[in-house]
Amino acid sequence: MKRAFLIKYGEIALKGKNRRIFEDVLVKRIRQALDSVDGTYKIERPRGRIFIEPETGMDELETIEALKCVFGIVAICPVILVEDEGFETLAGQVVDFFGESFSGRSLTFKVDSRRSRKNYPLNSMELNADLGERLLMAYPQLKVDVHKPEVLVRVEVRDNISIYVREIPGPGGMPIGTNGSAQLLLSGGIDSPVAGYLAMKRGIKLECIYFESPPHTSPAAKDKVKKLVNILNTYQSSIRLHVINFTEIQEAIYKNMNPEYMITIMRRMMYRISEKVMHERNCLVLVNGESVGQVASQTLTSMQVINSVTNIPVIRPVACLDKLEIIDIAKRIGTYETSILPYEDCCTIFLPKHPVINPKIDKAIEYENTVDYEEMIDRAVKTREVITISLNQKEFDI
Ligand code: ATP
Ligand code: MG
Repeated sequence: MKRAFLIKYGEIALKGKNRRIFEDVLVKRIRQALDSVDGTYKIERPRGRIFIEPETGMDELETIEALKCVFGIVAICPVILVEDEGFETLAGQVVDFFGESFSGRSLTFKVDSRRSRKNYPLNSMELNADLGERLLMAYPQLKVDVHKPEVLVRVEVRDNISIYVREIPGPGGMPIGTNGSAQLLLSGGIDSPVAGYLAMKRGIKLECIYFESPPHTSPAAKDKVKKLVNILNTYQSSIRLHVINFTEIQEAIYKNMNPEYMITIMRRMMYRISEKVMHERNCLVLVNGESVGQVASQTLTSMQVINSVTNIPVIRPVACLDKLEIIDIAKRIGTYETSILPYEDCCTIFLPKHPVINPKIDKAIEYENTVDYEEMIDRAVKTREVITISLNQKEFDI
Protein backbone atom coordinates (compact mmCIF):
# COMPACT_ATOMS: atom_id res chain seq x y z
CA MET A 1 0.00 0.00 0.00
CA LYS A 2 1.28 3.44 -0.91
CA ARG A 3 0.10 6.77 0.41
CA ALA A 4 -0.18 9.69 -1.95
CA PHE A 5 -2.14 12.83 -2.72
CA LEU A 6 -4.43 12.99 -5.69
CA ILE A 7 -4.56 16.52 -7.03
CA LYS A 8 -7.78 17.71 -8.60
CA TYR A 9 -7.72 20.66 -10.88
CA GLY A 10 -10.59 22.53 -12.43
CA GLU A 11 -10.40 24.94 -15.27
CA ILE A 12 -7.17 23.52 -16.64
CA ALA A 13 -9.16 20.54 -17.73
CA LEU A 14 -11.21 22.79 -20.01
CA LYS A 15 -8.25 23.92 -22.01
CA GLY A 16 -8.42 21.35 -24.80
CA LYS A 17 -5.10 20.90 -26.54
CA ASN A 18 -3.41 23.29 -24.16
CA ARG A 19 -4.22 21.07 -21.27
CA ARG A 20 -0.81 19.43 -21.23
CA ILE A 21 0.95 22.80 -21.05
CA PHE A 22 -1.25 23.86 -18.16
CA GLU A 23 -0.61 20.60 -16.36
CA ASP A 24 3.13 21.00 -16.85
CA VAL A 25 3.03 24.43 -15.25
CA LEU A 26 0.88 23.15 -12.41
CA VAL A 27 3.35 20.35 -11.71
CA LYS A 28 6.18 22.87 -11.72
CA ARG A 29 4.33 25.03 -9.21
CA ILE A 30 3.66 21.99 -7.04
CA ARG A 31 7.38 21.15 -7.02
CA GLN A 32 8.18 24.73 -6.06
CA ALA A 33 5.69 24.68 -3.22
CA LEU A 34 7.00 21.36 -1.91
CA ASP A 35 10.56 22.67 -1.88
CA SER A 36 9.86 24.10 1.54
CA VAL A 37 8.56 20.79 2.92
CA ASP A 38 10.98 18.24 4.34
CA GLY A 39 11.22 14.89 2.58
CA THR A 40 11.28 13.70 -1.01
CA TYR A 41 8.39 12.76 -3.26
CA LYS A 42 7.58 11.57 -6.75
CA ILE A 43 4.96 13.07 -9.04
CA GLU A 44 3.15 10.56 -11.27
CA ARG A 45 0.77 11.59 -14.03
CA PRO A 46 -1.20 8.59 -15.22
CA ARG A 47 -3.87 9.56 -17.74
CA GLY A 48 -4.56 13.18 -16.89
CA ARG A 49 -4.28 12.75 -13.15
CA ILE A 50 -1.64 14.06 -10.84
CA PHE A 51 -0.48 11.92 -7.92
CA ILE A 52 2.13 13.12 -5.45
CA GLU A 53 3.78 10.17 -3.75
CA PRO A 54 5.93 10.97 -0.71
CA GLU A 55 9.02 8.77 -0.76
CA THR A 56 10.48 9.57 2.61
CA GLY A 57 8.35 10.49 5.61
CA MET A 58 6.64 13.67 4.50
CA ASP A 59 4.52 15.40 7.10
CA GLU A 60 0.95 15.13 5.78
CA LEU A 61 -0.34 18.37 7.31
CA GLU A 62 2.68 20.34 6.20
CA THR A 63 2.38 18.97 2.67
CA ILE A 64 -1.31 19.84 2.53
CA GLU A 65 -0.63 23.37 3.80
CA ALA A 66 1.98 23.86 1.06
CA LEU A 67 -0.35 22.53 -1.63
CA LYS A 68 -3.13 24.85 -0.47
CA CYS A 69 -0.99 27.72 -1.81
CA VAL A 70 -0.72 26.36 -5.34
CA PHE A 71 -3.21 28.07 -7.63
CA GLY A 72 -4.86 25.69 -10.05
CA ILE A 73 -5.47 23.06 -7.40
CA VAL A 74 -9.15 22.61 -6.69
CA ALA A 75 -8.83 19.78 -4.20
CA ILE A 76 -6.15 17.77 -2.44
CA CYS A 77 -7.19 14.19 -1.72
CA PRO A 78 -5.10 12.02 0.60
CA VAL A 79 -5.27 8.68 -1.16
CA ILE A 80 -4.06 5.14 -0.67
CA LEU A 81 -2.91 3.19 -3.70
CA VAL A 82 -3.30 -0.55 -3.30
CA GLU A 83 -2.58 -3.57 -5.45
CA ASP A 84 -5.45 -5.74 -6.59
CA GLU A 85 -5.32 -8.63 -4.16
CA GLY A 86 -8.96 -9.62 -4.30
CA PHE A 87 -12.13 -8.15 -2.84
CA GLU A 88 -11.52 -9.21 0.76
CA THR A 89 -8.21 -7.36 0.95
CA LEU A 90 -9.72 -4.32 -0.73
CA ALA A 91 -12.67 -4.25 1.67
CA GLY A 92 -10.28 -4.43 4.64
CA GLN A 93 -8.24 -1.56 3.23
CA VAL A 94 -11.32 0.60 2.63
CA VAL A 95 -12.57 -0.06 6.16
CA ASP A 96 -9.20 0.74 7.75
CA PHE A 97 -8.68 3.90 5.70
CA PHE A 98 -12.16 5.14 6.57
CA GLY A 99 -11.57 4.44 10.25
CA GLU A 100 -8.22 6.22 10.22
CA SER A 101 -9.74 9.28 8.51
CA PHE A 102 -12.93 9.65 10.59
CA SER A 103 -12.31 7.66 13.77
CA GLY A 104 -15.63 6.83 15.37
CA ARG A 105 -17.66 9.71 13.94
CA SER A 106 -21.34 9.29 13.06
CA LEU A 107 -21.51 10.23 9.43
CA THR A 108 -23.53 9.56 6.33
CA PHE A 109 -21.63 8.14 3.39
CA LYS A 110 -21.88 6.71 -0.06
CA VAL A 111 -19.41 4.53 -1.96
CA ASP A 112 -18.67 5.72 -5.46
CA SER A 113 -16.62 3.20 -7.42
CA ARG A 114 -15.27 3.53 -10.92
CA ARG A 115 -13.95 0.56 -12.79
CA SER A 116 -11.77 1.64 -15.72
CA ARG A 117 -10.24 -1.84 -15.86
CA LYS A 118 -13.15 -3.83 -17.17
CA ASN A 119 -11.77 -7.26 -16.30
CA TYR A 120 -12.16 -6.57 -12.60
CA PRO A 121 -14.58 -9.28 -11.34
CA LEU A 122 -17.09 -6.88 -9.76
CA ASN A 123 -18.75 -4.06 -11.65
CA SER A 124 -19.03 -0.64 -10.04
CA MET A 125 -22.59 -1.16 -8.78
CA GLU A 126 -21.54 -4.36 -7.06
CA LEU A 127 -18.45 -2.72 -5.61
CA ASN A 128 -20.57 0.14 -4.23
CA ALA A 129 -23.03 -2.22 -2.58
CA ASP A 130 -20.47 -4.67 -1.19
CA LEU A 131 -18.03 -2.08 0.11
CA GLY A 132 -20.93 -0.09 1.62
CA GLU A 133 -22.06 -3.17 3.47
CA ARG A 134 -18.57 -3.79 4.85
CA LEU A 135 -18.34 -0.22 6.10
CA LEU A 136 -21.72 -0.49 7.84
CA MET A 137 -20.65 -3.71 9.48
CA ALA A 138 -17.39 -2.24 10.71
CA TYR A 139 -18.85 1.08 11.88
CA PRO A 140 -22.49 0.65 12.94
CA GLN A 141 -22.84 4.39 13.65
CA LEU A 142 -22.59 5.17 9.92
CA LYS A 143 -25.60 5.63 7.64
CA VAL A 144 -25.85 5.50 3.89
CA ASP A 145 -27.10 8.60 2.10
CA VAL A 146 -26.93 8.30 -1.67
CA HIS A 147 -28.13 11.87 -2.32
CA LYS A 148 -26.15 14.12 0.01
CA PRO A 149 -23.54 12.01 1.78
CA GLU A 150 -21.15 13.70 4.21
CA VAL A 151 -18.40 11.38 3.04
CA LEU A 152 -17.94 10.15 -0.48
CA VAL A 153 -15.82 7.02 -0.51
CA ARG A 154 -14.13 6.98 -3.90
CA VAL A 155 -12.67 3.76 -5.22
CA GLU A 156 -11.04 3.81 -8.63
CA VAL A 157 -10.01 0.52 -10.15
CA ARG A 158 -7.27 0.89 -12.71
CA ASP A 159 -4.08 -1.19 -12.89
CA ASN A 160 -3.93 -0.57 -9.19
CA ILE A 161 -6.75 0.72 -7.02
CA SER A 162 -6.93 4.15 -5.47
CA ILE A 163 -9.12 4.96 -2.51
CA TYR A 164 -9.88 8.34 -1.05
CA VAL A 165 -12.44 9.67 1.38
CA ARG A 166 -11.51 13.32 1.83
CA GLU A 167 -11.24 16.27 -0.53
CA ILE A 168 -9.43 19.19 1.05
CA PRO A 169 -10.23 22.38 -0.85
CA GLY A 170 -7.31 23.95 -2.71
CA PRO A 171 -7.13 27.65 -3.60
CA GLY A 172 -8.65 27.18 -7.09
CA GLY A 173 -7.65 29.56 -9.87
CA MET A 174 -4.98 28.82 -12.45
CA PRO A 175 -1.28 27.99 -12.09
CA ILE A 176 0.88 31.11 -11.93
CA GLY A 177 2.59 31.61 -15.26
CA THR A 178 -0.19 30.29 -17.43
CA ASN A 179 -1.53 33.76 -18.11
CA GLY A 180 1.53 35.92 -18.69
CA SER A 181 3.14 38.54 -16.47
CA ALA A 182 1.97 41.78 -14.94
CA GLN A 183 3.31 44.66 -12.90
CA LEU A 184 1.40 45.28 -9.68
CA LEU A 185 1.35 48.79 -8.28
CA LEU A 186 2.04 47.92 -4.68
CA SER A 187 1.61 50.73 -2.20
CA GLY A 188 1.77 49.16 1.22
CA GLY A 189 -1.91 49.74 1.92
CA ILE A 190 -4.64 47.15 2.30
CA ASP A 191 -5.98 47.04 -1.24
CA SER A 192 -3.02 46.51 -3.53
CA PRO A 193 -1.68 43.28 -1.95
CA VAL A 194 -5.19 41.84 -2.24
CA ALA A 195 -5.32 42.93 -5.89
CA GLY A 196 -1.98 41.17 -6.41
CA TYR A 197 -3.21 38.00 -4.77
CA LEU A 198 -6.34 37.93 -6.95
CA ALA A 199 -4.29 38.49 -10.11
CA MET A 200 -1.92 35.66 -9.19
CA LYS A 201 -4.90 33.45 -8.54
CA ARG A 202 -5.83 33.81 -12.20
CA GLY A 203 -2.44 32.53 -13.31
CA ILE A 204 -0.71 35.90 -13.71
CA LYS A 205 2.93 36.07 -12.72
CA LEU A 206 3.62 39.23 -10.73
CA GLU A 207 6.33 41.78 -10.50
CA CYS A 208 5.75 44.80 -8.25
CA ILE A 209 6.36 48.52 -8.59
CA TYR A 210 6.63 50.67 -5.50
CA PHE A 211 6.96 54.47 -5.64
CA GLU A 212 8.85 56.05 -2.78
CA SER A 213 9.75 59.66 -2.06
CA PRO A 214 12.73 59.78 0.24
CA PRO A 215 13.25 61.62 2.52
CA HIS A 216 9.51 62.29 2.73
CA THR A 217 8.86 58.57 2.96
CA SER A 218 10.93 56.47 5.34
CA PRO A 219 12.96 53.28 4.92
CA ALA A 220 10.41 51.68 7.25
CA ALA A 221 7.68 52.30 4.66
CA LYS A 222 9.80 50.52 2.07
CA ASP A 223 10.49 47.63 4.44
CA LYS A 224 6.78 47.25 4.91
CA VAL A 225 6.32 46.91 1.16
CA LYS A 226 9.11 44.31 1.03
CA LYS A 227 7.38 42.43 3.80
CA LEU A 228 4.14 42.45 1.81
CA VAL A 229 6.00 41.13 -1.22
CA ASN A 230 7.33 38.35 0.92
CA ILE A 231 3.81 37.44 2.04
CA LEU A 232 2.73 37.29 -1.61
CA ASN A 233 5.67 34.92 -2.09
CA THR A 234 3.55 32.31 -0.34
CA TYR A 235 2.04 31.84 -3.79
CA GLN A 236 4.82 32.74 -6.19
CA SER A 237 7.96 31.98 -4.15
CA SER A 238 9.98 34.78 -5.76
CA ILE A 239 8.92 38.27 -6.83
CA ARG A 240 10.85 41.09 -8.44
CA LEU A 241 10.23 44.49 -6.86
CA HIS A 242 10.99 47.72 -8.71
CA VAL A 243 11.47 50.63 -6.33
CA ILE A 244 11.03 53.93 -8.13
CA ASN A 245 12.40 57.13 -6.66
CA PHE A 246 9.48 59.48 -7.15
CA THR A 247 10.80 62.43 -5.14
CA GLU A 248 11.89 64.65 -8.01
CA ILE A 249 8.60 64.28 -9.84
CA GLN A 250 6.46 64.69 -6.75
CA GLU A 251 8.29 67.82 -5.68
CA ALA A 252 7.93 69.25 -9.17
CA ILE A 253 4.21 68.54 -9.11
CA TYR A 254 3.93 69.97 -5.62
CA LYS A 255 5.65 73.21 -6.65
CA ASN A 256 3.91 73.76 -9.95
CA MET A 257 0.50 72.23 -9.85
CA ASN A 258 -2.95 73.41 -8.88
CA PRO A 259 -3.31 71.43 -5.61
CA GLU A 260 -6.67 70.08 -6.72
CA TYR A 261 -4.98 68.25 -9.58
CA MET A 262 -1.89 67.03 -7.76
CA ILE A 263 -3.10 63.49 -7.19
CA THR A 264 -4.46 63.20 -10.73
CA ILE A 265 -1.15 64.24 -12.24
CA MET A 266 0.86 62.11 -9.83
CA ARG A 267 -1.12 59.08 -10.86
CA ARG A 268 -0.67 59.87 -14.53
CA MET A 269 3.09 59.99 -13.91
CA MET A 270 2.93 56.64 -12.13
CA TYR A 271 1.25 55.10 -15.16
CA ARG A 272 3.81 56.57 -17.56
CA ILE A 273 6.69 55.21 -15.50
CA SER A 274 5.01 51.84 -15.04
CA GLU A 275 4.41 51.52 -18.76
CA LYS A 276 8.12 51.87 -19.41
CA VAL A 277 9.01 49.30 -16.76
CA MET A 278 6.40 46.94 -18.19
CA HIS A 279 7.84 47.33 -21.62
CA GLU A 280 11.33 46.47 -20.42
CA ARG A 281 10.08 43.47 -18.50
CA ASN A 282 7.66 42.11 -21.12
CA CYS A 283 4.66 42.51 -18.88
CA LEU A 284 1.27 42.62 -20.55
CA VAL A 285 -0.90 44.37 -18.00
CA LEU A 286 -0.78 46.65 -15.02
CA VAL A 287 -2.61 45.61 -11.86
CA ASN A 288 -3.62 48.04 -9.12
CA GLY A 289 -5.70 48.16 -5.97
CA GLU A 290 -8.21 50.79 -7.00
CA SER A 291 -11.77 50.37 -5.83
CA VAL A 292 -14.50 52.39 -7.51
CA GLY A 293 -15.49 55.42 -5.48
CA GLN A 294 -13.14 54.72 -2.55
CA VAL A 295 -11.30 58.05 -2.78
CA ALA A 296 -11.26 61.06 -5.10
CA SER A 297 -8.70 59.50 -7.43
CA GLN A 298 -10.85 56.43 -7.85
CA THR A 299 -14.07 57.92 -9.17
CA LEU A 300 -14.83 56.76 -12.69
CA THR A 301 -13.99 60.20 -14.08
CA SER A 302 -10.67 60.22 -12.25
CA MET A 303 -9.85 56.73 -13.44
CA GLN A 304 -10.59 57.75 -16.99
CA VAL A 305 -8.44 60.89 -16.88
CA ILE A 306 -5.59 59.03 -15.18
CA ASN A 307 -5.81 55.96 -17.42
CA SER A 308 -5.86 57.99 -20.62
CA VAL A 309 -2.06 58.44 -20.58
CA THR A 310 -1.60 54.84 -21.66
CA ASN A 311 -3.05 52.09 -23.81
CA ILE A 312 -1.81 49.31 -21.61
CA PRO A 313 -4.61 47.25 -20.14
CA VAL A 314 -5.12 47.92 -16.44
CA ILE A 315 -6.68 45.21 -14.31
CA ARG A 316 -8.35 46.29 -11.08
CA PRO A 317 -9.22 43.09 -9.26
CA VAL A 318 -10.82 44.84 -6.27
CA ALA A 319 -12.60 47.54 -8.28
CA CYS A 320 -16.04 46.26 -7.38
CA LEU A 321 -15.41 45.01 -3.86
CA ASP A 322 -16.37 46.95 -0.73
CA LYS A 323 -13.59 47.86 1.69
CA LEU A 324 -14.87 45.26 4.16
CA GLU A 325 -14.74 42.56 1.51
CA ILE A 326 -11.18 43.57 0.64
CA ILE A 327 -10.25 43.50 4.34
CA ASP A 328 -11.70 40.00 4.65
CA ILE A 329 -9.41 38.75 1.89
CA ALA A 330 -6.43 40.64 3.32
CA LYS A 331 -6.96 38.92 6.67
CA ARG A 332 -7.33 35.53 5.05
CA ILE A 333 -4.12 35.84 3.03
CA GLY A 334 -2.18 37.32 5.92
CA THR A 335 -1.38 40.78 4.51
CA TYR A 336 -3.77 42.79 6.71
CA GLU A 337 -1.63 43.08 9.85
CA THR A 338 1.32 44.35 7.82
CA SER A 339 -0.81 46.67 5.68
CA ILE A 340 -2.19 48.54 8.67
CA LEU A 341 1.24 49.40 10.07
CA PRO A 342 1.23 53.19 10.18
CA TYR A 343 3.86 54.20 7.65
CA GLU A 344 3.43 57.08 5.26
CA ASP A 345 2.85 56.57 1.54
CA CYS A 346 4.11 58.97 -1.11
CA CYS A 347 0.50 59.74 -2.04
CA THR A 348 -0.59 60.62 1.45
CA ILE A 349 2.25 62.97 2.31
CA PHE A 350 1.48 65.21 -0.63
CA LEU A 351 -2.24 64.85 -0.24
CA PRO A 352 -4.09 68.09 -1.04
CA LYS A 353 -7.03 69.16 1.14
CA HIS A 354 -9.52 69.00 -1.70
CA PRO A 355 -8.49 66.67 -4.50
CA VAL A 356 -10.67 67.04 -7.58
CA ILE A 357 -13.39 64.41 -7.84
CA ASN A 358 -14.28 65.04 -11.48
CA PRO A 359 -11.03 66.09 -13.16
CA LYS A 360 -11.09 67.36 -16.74
CA ILE A 361 -8.62 65.86 -19.11
CA ASP A 362 -7.84 69.18 -20.84
CA LYS A 363 -6.94 70.75 -17.56
CA ALA A 364 -4.73 67.83 -16.58
CA ILE A 365 -2.82 68.17 -19.85
CA GLU A 366 -2.61 71.95 -19.50
CA TYR A 367 -1.11 71.67 -16.00
CA GLU A 368 1.31 68.99 -17.06
CA ASN A 369 2.57 71.10 -19.96
CA THR A 370 3.92 73.72 -17.60
CA VAL A 371 6.84 71.44 -16.68
CA ASP A 372 8.96 69.09 -18.81
CA TYR A 373 8.45 65.77 -17.11
CA GLU A 374 9.87 63.50 -19.82
CA GLU A 375 13.44 63.55 -18.58
CA MET A 376 12.37 63.07 -15.01
CA ILE A 377 10.28 60.07 -16.01
CA ASP A 378 13.20 58.50 -17.85
CA ARG A 379 15.48 59.16 -14.92
CA ALA A 380 13.04 57.56 -12.51
CA VAL A 381 12.86 54.44 -14.69
CA LYS A 382 16.63 54.24 -15.16
CA THR A 383 17.62 54.78 -11.56
CA ARG A 384 15.11 52.39 -10.09
CA GLU A 385 16.27 49.81 -7.61
CA VAL A 386 15.39 46.23 -8.54
CA ILE A 387 15.15 43.77 -5.68
CA THR A 388 14.32 40.10 -6.02
CA ILE A 389 12.59 38.82 -2.92
CA SER A 390 12.53 35.01 -2.68
CA LEU A 391 11.48 32.38 -0.23
CA ASN A 392 14.16 29.86 -1.18
CA GLN A 393 16.79 32.06 -2.79
CA LYS A 394 15.52 30.72 -6.10
CA GLU A 395 14.40 32.90 -8.98
CA PHE A 396 10.93 32.17 -10.22
CA ASP A 397 10.77 31.13 -13.83
CA ILE A 398 7.73 30.39 -15.94
P1 ATP B 1 -3.85 50.54 -0.99
O1 ATP B 1 -4.32 49.73 0.12
O2 ATP B 1 -3.72 49.79 -2.22
O3 ATP B 1 -2.65 51.37 -0.66
P2 ATP B 1 -5.10 53.03 -1.00
O4 ATP B 1 -6.53 53.36 -1.03
O5 ATP B 1 -4.26 53.45 0.13
O6 ATP B 1 -5.04 51.49 -1.22
P3 ATP B 1 -4.51 54.74 -3.09
O7 ATP B 1 -3.53 55.69 -2.53
O8 ATP B 1 -5.88 55.12 -3.25
O9 ATP B 1 -4.40 53.42 -2.32
O10 ATP B 1 -3.97 54.17 -4.46
C1 ATP B 1 -4.70 53.35 -5.30
C2 ATP B 1 -3.76 52.35 -5.96
O11 ATP B 1 -2.66 53.01 -6.59
C3 ATP B 1 -3.14 51.42 -4.94
O12 ATP B 1 -3.98 50.34 -4.65
C4 ATP B 1 -1.90 51.00 -5.68
O13 ATP B 1 -2.17 50.01 -6.63
C5 ATP B 1 -1.48 52.27 -6.41
N1 ATP B 1 -0.52 53.05 -5.58
C6 ATP B 1 -0.77 54.06 -4.74
N2 ATP B 1 0.36 54.50 -4.15
C7 ATP B 1 1.37 53.74 -4.63
C8 ATP B 1 2.79 53.66 -4.40
N3 ATP B 1 3.40 54.47 -3.55
N4 ATP B 1 3.50 52.74 -5.08
C9 ATP B 1 2.89 51.89 -5.93
N5 ATP B 1 1.58 51.91 -6.17
C10 ATP B 1 0.81 52.81 -5.54
MG1 MG C 1 -7.41 51.94 -1.96
